[in-house]
Amino acid sequence: MITPYLTIDLDKIEHNARTLTGLCGEYGIEVSGVTKVTCGNPDIARAMLRGGVTSIADSRLENIRRMRAAGVDANFMLLRIPALSDVANVVELADLSLNSELPVLEALSAAATSKGKVHDVILMVDLGDLREGIWQDDLVMFVEQAIELPGIRIVGLGTNLACFGGVEPGVSNMNQLVSYANEIQHHCGLVLEWISAINSSGLELIAAGKMPPRINHARIGEAILLGRETIHRKPWPDTYQDAFVLYAEIIELKNKPSLPVGDRGEDAFGHLPEFEDRGDRLRALLNVGREDINLEGIAPLDPRLGILGASSGYLVVDATDAQDALKVGDELAFTLNYSALLAAMTSEYVKKKSLQSAARKEEQ
Ligand SMILES: *Cc1c(COP(=O)(O)O)cnc(C)c1O
Repeated sequence: MITPYLTIDLDKIEHNARTLTGLCGEYGIEVSGVTKVTCGNPDIARAMLRGGVTSIADSRLENIRRMRAAGVDANFMLLRIPALSDVANVVELADLSLNSELPVLEALSAAATSKGKVHDVILMVDLGDLREGIWQDDLVMFVEQAIELPGIRIVGLGTNLACFGGVEPGVSNMNQLVSYANEIQHHCGLVLEWISAINSSGLELIAAGKMPPRINHARIGEAILLGRETIHRKPWPDTYQDAFVLYAEIIELKNKPSLPVGDRGEDAFGHLPEFEDRGDRLRALLNVGREDINLEGIAPLDPRLGILGASSGYLVVDATDAQDALKVGDELAFTLNYSALLAAMTSEYVKKKSLQSAARKEEQ
């Protein structure tokens, strides 16, 4: 296969989804599978659905459109707060969206009404992570205005944590969210079907049995795709961390000094890198670069290899400890963290190859 490419093990993703939907299910929590880091890859969405997620959530309408066009049969949730300029597409493509702005809700209301539709929304509350969400003091007044809008159905209350401010979900902020939901139900005469409280950062709280029972929805991406909770990035029990593997090819393999030769200024990205003199080293140049990955987010599967750096199109690897095993044209494999996966999935230069067991393929 022409390199570079990313293999996507759909059976592992399905397994991870089953593990996590099983855990959440024990506590009455439904899971939406979050596909945004995969650019809405339809194969991955299907693997998540086989693994028990009850809907698919993505931050971009383009991704939802891609999955619908590929025939993915699911309810779709739009995660990112809609742009005012895009409300017509939101109503068209998403079954439900997360919201925090009245002008946007008014526009969604108009768009839904003109299409004869009712658009479901979950209102987001900011519990302190300082990304999206209605500030807590404004919540009741906000809801009082939002419930007047035709074509809009407020079906739940949600919050997002551990994304911008790194605020952890805990018993106290989760209870706070439940009490806001109760207050809204009481004051505004609204029945909130969903309390959508967590992402992959909330798994430890659930597993510890500390999630308030009223919380019944989770939006989970990273833990399904990479097998990690996101507070400590610990591997989650009974999940795979290597559903995605990046392969790049050695396009130059030479012994060179470890110190640059000549007067030195900035590198291609405006940094002045430091080098340690380790004598001559075997250096492998690979055909991926910063355009396809982020350097800190990949790790070679072969522990004898070390990453030295990258420019937009090259990855430079110290291959001295594996020199007997390597030649030009060999493929080297790397695991990825969330940000490297995001870059690799987004890069059109990295080909995507879905892997699936023969048994599963036959069923389809
Ligand atoms: C990305 C996102 C998620 C999923 O987060 P993970 O850490 O990948 O589980 C959940 N909710 C919202 C609003 C998001 O933007």
